[in-house]
Amino acid sequence: MTQNNAIPVVNEVTKAGSKKLLTRELLESYDTASEPWAVALGRRYLTHHELKGILNNIEDVPDSIYDHFDMRLTPYLVQLMDKDDPNCPIRLQYMPNNRESETFGTVLDSLGEDDDTIPGTRVVHRYPQRVLFLCTPICASYCRYCTRKRFVSHTEQNPGKDVIEASVEYIQSNPEIQDVLLSGGDPLMLSDRKLDEILGKLRAIPHVKFLRIGSRLAAQLPTRITPELCEILERHNVQMLNIHVNHPKEITPLLVERLKLLRKAGVMLGNQAVLLRGVNDSVEVLRNLCMGMVAAGVRPYYIYSCDPTEGNPQFTVPLDEMLELSRGLRGWISGPAVPTFIVDGVGGLGKMPVQADYYVEGESGELVFTNYEGQSYRMSNLEK
Ligand SMILES: *Cc1c(COP(=O)(O)O)cnc(C)c1O
Ligand code: SF4
Repeated sequence: MTQNNAIPVVNEVTKAGSKKLLTRELLESYDTASEPWAVALGRRYLTHHELKGILNNIEDVPDSIYDHFDMRLTPYLVQLMDKDDPNCPIRLQYMPNNRESETFGTVLDSLGEDDDTIPGTRVVHRYPQRVLFLCTPICASYCRYCTRKRFVSHTEQNPGKDVIEASVEYIQSNPEIQDVLLSGGDPLMLSDRKLDEILGKLRAIPHVKFLRIGSRLAAQLPTRITPELCEILERHNVQMLNIHVNHPKEITPLLVERLKLLRKAGVMLGNQAVLLRGVNDSVEVLRNLCMGMVAAGVRPYYIYSCDPTEGNPQFTVPLDEMLELSRGLRGWISGPAVPTFIVDGVGGLGKMPVQADYYVEGESGELVFTNYEGQSYRMSNLEK
């Protein structure tokens, strides 16, 4: 048995000294619910080499791949991975592969977020009335298709006090901002103390009506959702938390249990998924994902097309397929389980909903509607 106690990355919330689980046997007997989340963070795998005693058929990638985008992987996620199948939907999302390097050096900020970032802050102000506040570049585990590779991972350095203060001040001095969305990175990688402080400052701004958080931590390390965290979110009236679950395999009993704590704290839950080739590009998987989400009290919010940041194009699903998949949901599963499909335009064009057509207008204005089963009917009552 080999053990590796080296923890190259120790931040405020990572407990140094956590032992890594480097054999299948150790991993299988591990129960993430039995220890604090900070200890679990210290057990994360940092390269594919560390998984060689655990998974078969690991793709051999050069270590230089990590110059572009780090690997971090919680033992909880590795437990969800198929031991043998490299095309397991969890492995595809998190294990580095050689196709990434085909697009190295192309696009790092496909959404043009830097252009809309207020200088000296981490605030992206693109839309009227709401802002993104990218309060940390750190995540518990890094998704290979991340859209924010320009600053996520690499430094693993939280913004300084001055940047946080400048961000809060910007929001404070712009009364049109009613909605602040904390994102990153993963805001829940901040310690409870830091989160409490930031949320307190934002909540004290009278014009901020809506406070929400985007976080993948519930799906990567459900034990991050503690009663203490829920108390903080409830006290600051954080109205919404969007989680990020892409495949029904990720909906575990532990996740469902911890989501219930958030619901009890009055936090509205949504899911933002990304449509990914090989992971969730089938009607069956999407139906199970969306129904699994509503069953857990989570409203499917958006399903995004994969942004063309470097390393990502291998995951892209073309628009016509995306629309066909959306047709497989509306009418077939519960209405509240049906998400909006979104294309986030390159260069800062912003989010645009895409929808399959359910009616066509004829040359002389006749309106022919087609339902989810393919039956058509002319609705002359709605014609001009
Ligand atoms: C996605 C996003 C938001 C939030 O958009 P909603 O559609 O309100 O969820 C805000 N700002 C930026 C820059 C975004 O990309
Ligand atoms: S959790 Fe979000 S920000 Fe973090 S690596 Fe995954 S996609 Fe990127």
